[in-house]
Amino acid sequence: MPSGEGRFAQVIIPSPLKEPLTYAIPPALQDQLNIGMRVLVPLGTRKVTGVVASLSPKSLLELKEIKEILACLDDRPILDASLMELSRWTSQYYLSTMGEVLYTVLPPGLRVASQKFVLQTKSVPMAPGLDGEILEELHKKKGKASLKTLRRRFPGADLYRAMERLVARGAVMVQERSVRIQKKERDDVAGEEETRTADVQSLTLTAEQQKACDAVQERLENGRFETFLLHGVTGSGKTEVYLRLMEEVRRSGRCSLILTPEISLTPQLLDRLRARFPGRVGVLHSALSPSQRWAEWWRILDGKVDVVVGARSAVFAPIPDLGLTVVDEEHDSSYKQEDGLRYHARDLAVVRGSIIGSPVLLGSATPSVESFENCRRGRYRLLELTKRVEQKPLPSVEVIDLRAEIRYGPRKTEDRQRVMGHQSSAIGLFSSRLKEALQENFRRSQQSLIFLNRRGFAHFLQCRLCGFVLRCSHCSVAMTFHLKQRAVLCHHCGFRKPAIQLCPGCGNISLSAVGFGTEQIEQELNQLLPEARVARMDRDTTRKRGSQERLIRGWEKGEIHVLVGTQMITKGHDIAGVTLVGAILADLSLNLPDFRAAEKTFQLLSQVAGRAGRGREPGRVIIQTYVPDHYTIQHVITHDYKGFFDSELEFRRSMSYPPFSRLVHLRLEGPKAQEVQAKMKELGIELGARQRRGPNTLEEIEILGPAPAPIEKLRGRYRWQILLKGKKSAPVLELARQARKIIPRSRHTRLYIDVDPYNML
Ligand code: ADP
Ligand code: ZN
Repeated sequence: MPSGEGRFAQVIIPSPLKEPLTYAIPPALQDQLNIGMRVLVPLGTRKVTGVVASLSPKSLLELKEIKEILACLDDRPILDASLMELSRWTSQYYLSTMGEVLYTVLPPGLRVASQKFVLQTKSVPMAPGLDGEILEELHKKKGKASLKTLRRRFPGADLYRAMERLVARGAVMVQERSVRIQKKERDDVAGEEETRTADVQSLTLTAEQQKACDAVQERLENGRFETFLLHGVTGSGKTEVYLRLMEEVRRSGRCSLILTPEISLTPQLLDRLRARFPGRVGVLHSALSPSQRWAEWWRILDGKVDVVVGARSAVFAPIPDLGLTVVDEEHDSSYKQEDGLRYHARDLAVVRGSIIGSPVLLGSATPSVESFENCRRGRYRLLELTKRVEQKPLPSVEVIDLRAEIRYGPRKTEDRQRVMGHQSSAIGLFSSRLKEALQENFRRSQQSLIFLNRRGFAHFLQCRLCGFVLRCSHCSVAMTFHLKQRAVLCHHCGFRKPAIQLCPGCGNISLSAVGFGTEQIEQELNQLLPEARVARMDRDTTRKRGSQERLIRGWEKGEIHVLVGTQMITKGHDIAGVTLVGAILADLSLNLPDFRAAEKTFQLLSQVAGRAGRGREPGRVIIQTYVPDHYTIQHVITHDYKGFFDSELEFRRSMSYPPFSRLVHLRLEGPKAQEVQAKMKELGIELGARQRRGPNTLEEIEILGPAPAPIEKLRGRYRWQILLKGKKSAPVLELARQARKIIPRSRHTRLYIDVDPYNML
């Protein structure tokens, strides 16, 4: 660094509300400080960790008194230039601060004020001068001291150089420990968990698989960015394509990143990765303890892995030489983060690829409308696997019209549930067709999967006399009845109350259960198939650590005959014994107030149907619905993604929803209904005014609202929203940025800005 430069550093504190701060660089750190390194800085009365974002010869603020950086915590950048650029891009696009972005990027252990420790490793002849004194000091301290202690003992000395010399001589090693790590040393290292033997036998790729591999391979060789969409029906061998390409990347000495919606749901993917890359798989996801995540982060940064697998935040994994990024099940909505920094990991994976100049492979049996449209427009390249491997047929799908079933179907009293002394309104959960199929499948000792996207026993409790519905005290939603817990639960905020029969509305003992959930389905199944082992997988049964994996393993081994569950059961499992899949009520997700409702339903039903018939026996799928003629259901029957896509695209075009527009969702929340409403009305008027005054690019933006959010009150806070909709993203983002300025930060209300929103409830 030329002298005179780099006297000041802009430091970002990884915390949502912090703006970059300027600090002076003390002379001792002049030569070693660089962008992307962590530093310890004073902030008020505290000392906090920050990351150096830029260096400048003088302070831009010309402040009289600029505080000094206390220490440099790294000897090399932990965020390289491309990750810093990705972070900046993220903060600009998602209208967020760099502090908030780095809060997401860095694992928790790296955020606390961590410390470097110096450990004496072997005794070497004492050298005169500083090095000798340090060794002597270490000896006195029983061979171990924190760098901080040494700095206090040798003020002004160039300890970093000294450490370098001592490390080179093999006299000491330097280890970094976060405060948390010291408290929790037991699970210090994430390491490799028990590896199961997944078959590593090399398969011969099908012609379609080979073609897909070749296309990406070519990009890998000439090291260029391109986004591919691998559209392959369920069981067509997409994962095999990923694995082959990742092996190719390893051969060239680089590392691959594979994102997956939820690691805990896909132990099979981990097995396969660990079998192919033994000891060289890095895993990043939220279920790891802070110290485990910390250890994995360093393994990755140190280049000790060939593959990183993780959920959405792994898109920021500190991979030094990223050769390929794979986004499995790219359509999955869990790639969208719904609080804090509201980013979409699939979209950021594409941005990261373009920054680095390496290919990105998105894969799905049911691609998102956005990604498929990007192929049509020539932005992504489409690769297709149209057949299941080994000529296995796709399952046959039949639809049961529930309207006919209710009118003409069996309606015997034993079908009725007695709940809390009252008859539930849930009758005929299983059509006679589905019942027979279940019994038949059990007789043939094959496994069945039953899907219903609502947990609990009954949807809600309602008074039969006055119509009163038991609602959450904190949210404007009905509470769901859970029989086993004898409680009603709010599925939005978690609030629970004991279940009652006495109606608070009219005082009669007349509250009864309406609708049904997975818990009730499980009970019905137990009655229908008394000898079968029935298990349930939803958020209620998977709360304990490891319980989910146990369920999946039991299912894998054939110990469970019938598995009932929510969308958790629809993903990724490849289990040969499953030959029957039943969807109890396909309409649940279709009826949501969401422009993606049809897309989500198509994806859910196709994915769950795809679990059937992966082994020797062909599969059968039965879908129960009140809207059998809906285009979504019709295209699920014929496994016709493109047919669905065409119909859906027409709908999106007619309503100018994405991909024909860009949306930004503004939501204000606060404890007082009136204040929230008034502020949002003001915001609506002011945005309209700025739009009229501003450049013409703002003209075509539609300002929808303000209106109360579909869930008007959540966790005791009232919510109003405005939706901005425009053809191009830049002007929409610009107008949304204005909103931040119009509504100043306040203690009571908070404005949330969601770019490309998924959840607008
Ligand atoms: P997808 O990810 O598309 O659902 P997978 O990659 O999991 O499909 O493949 C489904 C099954 O087929 C797996 O058990 C896999 O080992 C097997 N398989 C994949 N490719 C081939 C192939 N070329 N030949 C034989 N079996 C294959
Ligand atoms: Zn609630």
